[in-house]
Amino acid sequence: MRAVVQAGGLPECPRCAVRMTRRPIGGGSFGLGYHRQREWLLCPACRRSAIFDVRRGTRL
Ligand SMILES: [Zn+2]
Repeated sequence: MRAVVQAGGLPECPRCAVRMTRRPIGGGSFGLGYHRQREWLLCPACRRSAIFDVRRGTRL
């Protein structure tokens, strides 16, 4: 699942196999000089959420 995210894809929820939505975390769109490091994945079906730290790996 992590590899999918790092490849730029959208993973599926491990519970209900629904494609999760991705929301970037951080001020990337504001030009603060941060690379986008974290992504917030949210399952629209069961509302399971997971935060991926793209640089360091996932903490679950
Ligand atoms: Zn789900």
